[in-house]
Amino acid sequence: AAKAERRGTCRSFELRMDEAAQAKSRLEKDLRKAVQDGDLEVHYQPLVNLETGQIECCEALLRWHHAERGHVSPEVFIPLAEELGLIDQVGRFVLNSACREAMSWPQHVRLSVNVSPLQFRNGNLLSTVINALSSSGLVAERLELEITEAVLMERGPRPAAIIRNLRAFGIGISLDDFGTGYSSLSYLLNYPFTKIKIDKSFILNLQREANSRAVIRAVIGLGRSLGVTVVAEGIEREMEREYLRSEGCTQGQGFLFGKPGPAAMVDFQSLLPRACNAA
Ligand code: C2E
Ligand code: MG
Ligand code: MG
Ligand code: MG
Repeated sequence: AAKAERRGTCRSFELRMDEAAQAKSRLEKDLRKAVQDGDLEVHYQPLVNLETGQIECCEALLRWHHAERGHVSPEVFIPLAEELGLIDQVGRFVLNSACREAMSWPQHVRLSVNVSPLQFRNGNLLSTVINALSSSGLVAERLELEITEAVLMERGPRPAAIIRNLRAFGIGISLDDFGTGYSSLSYLLNYPFTKIKIDKSFILNLQREANSRAVIRAVIGLGRSLGVTVVAEGIEREMEREYLRSEGCTQGQGFLFGKPGPAAMVDFQSLLPRACNAA
């Protein structure tokens, strides 16, 4: 009986594995098709000056609306695109669409675009970026690329050389999700970053955790000494905005100022978020 039961458990486990594998391969197939048919959409979220409330930059965030599943998170489909070898194509699409879109924004508003570590490995990132700039007409100084530490952990001179070349063209380089990886100080000193983005987990815990406040203060101080803009991600509450502003954080991004949305939804005129005006 035990044996039969074990066999039964085994079979249902295999069945579940099978279902999961099937679901994944369906999602893969759908993603290939979405990329091919141009069903991905770029949304934008503002980064505001914490002193003035002015929008200084917008981050391009990729969206996939699946016909049956609805919204699929980029945390799910970006890794899938990487696995399927589609990330260069997806990356080109985001850069081209976003650069074109940014041409209709006020000229002081910059554009930031997330770049996958794999785009540093296989694709020709530099020529993809230069192409997107020249075909849209956007000046290099208005573009920033957001990378994570994963890019820098690649061995060899490639990432460093590409980053130097991008900087030489006038393109900004932001270190995204700072504080979540190894957060090696040597990265900050050895690469020509123009911006550090403090990961949203620190802002989420700011109120209850003295440790999060300590990290936030340290990164702001570091940024100031290095002459690098510091951004706080994930600002949802007025008290978080006020704390970060008083500590000298330059820019803020989060639902308090605006959720990611289609380009037409970004309100470049609103100087202060509603939450601040109401206060
Ligand atoms: P990220 O670059 O760190 O982007 C910030 C994420 O935080 C976005 O999630 C944004 O919607 C979310 N966020 C912004 N404000 C708040 C807030 O106040 N509270 C909370 N809880 N969340 C907030 P999203 O759009 O789901 O993107 C997730 C990640 O997917 C991004 O993290 C980025 O790593 C990746 N991603 C998105 N678009 C692209 C893309 O075009 N290319 C690549 N390579 N990666 C992308
Ligand atoms: Mg980002
Ligand atoms: Mg981030
Ligand atoms: Mg992230």
